[in-house]
Amino acid sequence: MKDERLLEQEQEGFLRDTLQKLLTQDSPTGFTDRVVELAEGIARNLGFETSRTNKGNLVVTVPGRETGRRMGLCAHVDTLGLMVRSITDRGMLMVTRVGGPLMPTLDGEYCRIYTRAGKVFTGTVLSLSPSVHVQDDAGTRARDEKNMAVRIDEKVRSKEDVQALGISPGDYVCYDPKTVITESGFVKSRFLDDKASAACLLTLLWRMHRTGERPQYDTWITLTVHEEVGHGGAALPPVDELLAVDMGCIGEDLSCTEYQVSICAKDSNGPYDYGMVSRLMKLAGDNGVDYAVDIYPHYGSDVSAAWKAGMDARAALIGPGVHASHGMERTHLDALRATLQLAGLYLELA
Ligand SMILES: [Zn+2]
Repeated sequence: MKDERLLEQEQEGFLRDTLQKLLTQDSPTGFTDRVVELAEGIARNLGFETSRTNKGNLVVTVPGRETGRRMGLCAHVDTLGLMVRSITDRGMLMVTRVGGPLMPTLDGEYCRIYTRAGKVFTGTVLSLSPSVHVQDDAGTRARDEKNMAVRIDEKVRSKEDVQALGISPGDYVCYDPKTVITESGFVKSRFLDDKASAACLLTLLWRMHRTGERPQYDTWITLTVHEEVGHGGAALPPVDELLAVDMGCIGEDLSCTEYQVSICAKDSNGPYDYGMVSRLMKLAGDNGVDYAVDIYPHYGSDVSAAWKAGMDARAALIGPGVHASHGMERTHLDALRATLQLAGLYLELA
């Protein structure tokens, strides 16, 4: 019993630490090499074999206790972001969205601009009517791509000044995740979608390393890097069953909370595998895992990408309940624990 409690404590420590590390590394879709390198280092340190695909996914191979069925788990480590579209005459950066950030929530956010030559500048995403003392429409101007820009923290007055810094269209703009884990167990951060799940999968590896447990069948855990633009799951190792771990939706008539693991029965691309969803519900129910089953109204996952790319696998989707997704997100450590537990039960770790 004492050992079990110690194991839980150590596991929680690893989970928190890994989550912080993943969240600290800027990784909008298309700019993910560093976060993949980080995850790769973690998986290798735990003694697992890894490989990278041409598109940049990280694949971790976990030998099972028996062969005969090929299992897949995936989560994505790419995030939303921005890219420089053009430079204004006054030296501000107009941007284009990478994925679908909720633009009004970016007003006032600090960011980093990565040039292709490897320089990093800081700045702030602002409305083009940023001052209440000057512009009549400071409070009412739309907060969207056309009406927002990045103010660079350099003495620039013109387009030429910005070009002289080496900043150009195509450079990534990464806004601050602002990660905080509160005493009460809430995790407040951008990009919990889907780094919260990626941290859970790496923690599952930690658990196997620490206890010697193995899944029943050979398992491939993939961290994908193009989910936010819709094709992350299009190139996964061939498996018979795929469980995507991605954020669970909260709000309106959905039942999930920030303390639960969400099991998605259907999203914008249609229903998930009936048998797998039923099995996941039963596993959670039988083992006291706090869960909710929901329909996600505006959502696609790496499963739909895999299916559209032709993967012949049963597939389902689970993940921690995340509030205010693609905005200033929040979940609770309870949801991460529940997700970790359900993923472990699904793999039949023993
Ligand atoms: Zn996601």
